[in-house]
Amino acid sequence: MPMSLTLIHTERFAEHQTPPGHPERPERAEVMDVVAGRWKSRGVEVVPPSAATREQLLRVHDGDYLRRISETVGRAVKLDPDTYTSPESHEIALLAAGAAVQAVNHAMSGPQRRALAFVRPPGHHAERDRAMGFCLFNNVAIAAAHARANGAEKVAIVDYDVHHGNGTQHIFEDDPHVLYVSTHQFPYYPGTGAAGEVGRGAGAGFTVNVPLEVGAVDEDYQTAFSAVILPVLSQFKPDLVILSAGFDAHERDPLAGMRLSTDAFAAMTGELRGVAERHCQGRMAVVTEGGYDLQALAASLDAVTETLNGSPQAARWPRSGVASDRGRAAAEAAARALSPFWRF
Ligand SMILES: [Zn+2]
Repeated sequence: MPMSLTLIHTERFAEHQTPPGHPERPERAEVMDVVAGRWKSRGVEVVPPSAATREQLLRVHDGDYLRRISETVGRAVKLDPDTYTSPESHEIALLAAGAAVQAVNHAMSGPQRRALAFVRPPGHHAERDRAMGFCLFNNVAIAAAHARANGAEKVAIVDYDVHHGNGTQHIFEDDPHVLYVSTHQFPYYPGTGAAGEVGRGAGAGFTVNVPLEVGAVDEDYQTAFSAVILPVLSQFKPDLVILSAGFDAHERDPLAGMRLSTDAFAAMTGELRGVAERHCQGRMAVVTEGGYDLQALAASLDAVTETLNGSPQAARWPRSGVASDRGRAAAEAAARALSPFWRF
């Protein structure tokens, strides 16, 4: 079986500037450059993105919102308490969304194709009509909508960023064709993502929230995956797996309070690759979100790329050895809320 891993990245992602001291700082793109260069030297294809088109953006964002963001071209603007533009941000955000679309195009172009888009700014907090939480365009939502418009009947988005992806959830909450699954610290920014938020109308049951108490360790996430996330994914049977890959649940991350090891990110990614192997011929697109400790970001990006580039194998979960029942509590709450829709 031919395997193909493509990395979609450009050093231009550093041109999205933020105020001094802001966590979403351009050095994150420089870390991505180093990791991408390392994998390129090992034979992984690295391609630059092209900008997302207006048609692609309009699948998830309002036209009026696109106009407001386009008016930031050439200017530094504060869009919300956390979200800033520099003169180049609009162009760079279009490249980030375009990279996510390209990752989907690569994954959908044949069996055993995986792609990672190393992008900034992140996307999962961006709502249909509002920039939020460092995010301008919802990269992953744009990618999922693109997949749906190009032949994917069912798309699963899994988001292991430490923050809940409010924007992604809201964009697809009434759509049974796009499953949104999130693990996140809760309660925490942005405030959404309670276990009882399961989707609406025809989309009821197709939003899966596993809110974890601060301090969760590797074993807690393993429990969330084995008790809730993997059972739902195996019943949903996606045609494409998209991963919102944020690394801010890492134990080194300065923004949040989770205690995941680098190996846990490889394990979660390996579990999702397994889902893709079983249900959709390995088709998987990974798009970066948060991750604010540069050392943890580099190590985690490397581990995730390694997981996607090597031969498929059972996910190897690390042991923290810390006693914690946060995972069990979260899994029970999620399973209770979702039991009308899925078997556990
Ligand atoms: Zn985050």
